[in-house]
Amino acid sequence: GPTTFRIDAGNTSVTCGDGQRVLDALLRQGVWIPNSCNQGTCGTCKVRVIDGMVTAPPTPDSVLSDAEQQQGYVLSCQSTPITDIAVEPPAAECGERHHLLRDVAGTVGSITAVADDTVSITVSLDEPFEFTAGQYVELSIPGTGQTRPYSMANPPSESATLEFHVRRQPDGLATDRWIFDSLTVGAAVSMTGPWGDFCHQPGEPDVGLILLAGGTGLAPLKSIARAALDADPDREIHVYHGVRTEAELYDVDFWRALETGHPNVRYTPCLSREEWSGRTGYVGDAMMADFDSCRNHSAYLCGPPAMVEAGVRALKRRRMPPRRIKREKYTPAA
Ligand code: FAD
Repeated sequence: GPTTFRIDAGNTSVTCGDGQRVLDALLRQGVWIPNSCNQGTCGTCKVRVIDGMVTAPPTPDSVLSDAEQQQGYVLSCQSTPITDIAVEPPAAECGERHHLLRDVAGTVGSITAVADDTVSITVSLDEPFEFTAGQYVELSIPGTGQTRPYSMANPPSESATLEFHVRRQPDGLATDRWIFDSLTVGAAVSMTGPWGDFCHQPGEPDVGLILLAGGTGLAPLKSIARAALDADPDREIHVYHGVRTEAELYDVDFWRALETGHPNVRYTPCLSREEWSGRTGYVGDAMMADFDSCRNHSAYLCGPPAMVEAGVRALKRRRMPPRRIKREKYTPAA
């Protein structure tokens, strides 16, 4: 059979290699569709195939309902064409410019233990890389054919060197068995990116930002905070960082310095499993204690799924309009 297929998407058509995912082909060739986890768990990238056929692993009903499957909807991040196909033209969602997905090569510049089981890694890139604050890359795990998503913590204005925050997952393929085990300074790493629609939107500059992070979910929020302050040093930003114990806290000096340099930045670390001199409990509860209303703010949340869901509930209880709530869940790979 042929080694490439054609994907028609309204006025545009792109080429898809044998075994290439539909989402990957579209994003590389300038057709933007909303996407988030790239691992078949969130459902954001669903598209309707109106002609031709794709193959994909079975999708849970919670991600793609029977009715949707019968109408031809598929997860573009999991589907590979087996004939030429046509998909319903995607509606360009958030009017801003998107960056082409591509392969990126780099070299590890530093690996720093910043807290219990947490490292900060810098990777210098061979070529400039464009992304929007909040987005992530898929790191290739050498020798496995597998990838894992990690968010950039640096702002797009400093993209020659990417910064990542990685937490060890016991027995984890990417973390325990590669990054924490054998990755060294000077090692070559390959990745694809940028992925995701957890994107800082510079619009509504008068609206204060509430950033809710759990663990290494702090990474994209650091990028977003820095990008927002680059645009407006007086921007109102409230960052809540939730971890279990003080030994898991990191980047405290960075956020304290940001508070000192910017009058409207406030940083609130919260410990959920330990008493200390600072705040205790979950980030959503801490935020609710500080705000009577979030009607005039917007929010970005990132971290473990349960933390993100609890944070969204807290913001809604404080009357934040749902369209101003952006979230990224660090769902484990299936
Ligand atoms: P795996 O080999 O995938 O997992 C090993 C075992 O642990 C499996 O049984 C698995 O189900 C279980 N497991 C894995 N993760 C968890 C968990 N969180 N809770 C409970 N059980 C788990 N992580 C970061 O540290 N920094 C980031 O910037 C970051 N960005 C991400 C961005 C996106 C969009 C997503 C979806 C995830 C992100 N993650 C991030 C999570 C990361 O991609 C990996 O899932 C994580 O590092 C574990 O990978 P692993 O290969 O070490 O473990």
